[in-house]
Amino acid sequence: QLPAQTGVRPPNPSLPIANGNHQTSHSCCSVVMFTRVKPSDFHYLKVIGKGSFGKVGATRHRQSGSLYAVKVLQKQQRHVMVERSVLLKGLQHPFLVGFHFSFQTSHTLFFVLDYINGGEMFYHLQREGAFPEPRATFYSAEMASALSYLHSLNIVCRDLKPENILLDRGGHVVLTDFGLCKEGVSVGGTMQTFCGTSEYLAPEVLLGHAYSGAVDWWGLGSALYEILHGLPPFYSRSKAEMFENIVQAPLQLRRSAELQGHTFFLSINWDDLPARKVPPPFIPNLVCVLCDVRYFDPEFTLLPVPASLGLSDMLGDVANGAFPGFSYMPPAEVGVAEP
Ligand code: ADP
Ligand code: MG
Repeated sequence: QLPAQTGVRPPNPSLPIANGNHQTSHSCCSVVMFTRVKPSDFHYLKVIGKGSFGKVGATRHRQSGSLYAVKVLQKQQRHVMVERSVLLKGLQHPFLVGFHFSFQTSHTLFFVLDYINGGEMFYHLQREGAFPEPRATFYSAEMASALSYLHSLNIVCRDLKPENILLDRGGHVVLTDFGLCKEGVSVGGTMQTFCGTSEYLAPEVLLGHAYSGAVDWWGLGSALYEILHGLPPFYSRSKAEMFENIVQAPLQLRRSAELQGHTFFLSINWDDLPARKVPPPFIPNLVCVLCDVRYFDPEFTLLPVPASLGLSDMLGDVANGAFPGFSYMPPAEVGVAEP
């Protein structure tokens, strides 16, 4: 069942679900080179993001003056080692967040990342409702490119969603948040852990089946749908209903012509429009609904009627010089038609 309106995104995004054990394999990269970096090397400027596990701040490296995003996680959180392990793989992709350092205090882990300040896709969708197709095509292509790269390294993302999709200052996609990744998934490999975020869970995950990296393509499709329509596919306020829909409801694509999807028309509900249900912003102030002519120019309404409308000819021969076939009468009224 589709939500009543496009563009009305629930204010609180769902939290990721993360059950089960994650692989905590350590990567081969040396961490020694990072251990010299410490929290006091950075000047913390602003909190710029908050997920279910981490807080992210914009920071300036005191010595170099460079800006970074620092993701701060508490050590007792389960997924930190997976995230660290994925980041330490040295991911190099234009649409994946770049990783610089990690360091720790007794209770806290810090990841120093590229500072990406073009905003979350979630933020832009909330403001704009939905994006026109060419914009959606561009973002989904960049996301697909990033996911393919992760898969080529046997990493499955499992938590693609508008909160984890950032735009950089040039308007390109940057995926962040590797907290729910699964490593070591080769072609044909499967996983079983029930995790992800409700709206974006693939049916096979919901059904408890062993699932493959294809869940990321499901995630991409869901993100694309949301970018185009303003809400995730199968969305319902009731989670039980949403899960049911994900598993069995046919996907309903909204009719959305490019013009209808344009931001200029965002306030218009195109389904209500032809039913005349969209309230007009101005209602003519007519004293007599039918006979009031106040909105016609007096230049016309003050003219003597018969002469001005050529009605004096009416007494003459109507058929004389007539255009054949010009006169029209709806079929129901034929019988009182022209001579
Ligand atoms: P969590 O694992 O808790 O979901 P995220 O890694 O998703 O944490 O970070 C939380 C939020 O912080 C993100 O949704 C995003 O808005 C912001 N964020 C994360 N990484 C960066 C970054 N490199 N640059 C700018 N903002 C970021
Ligand atoms: Mg996140």
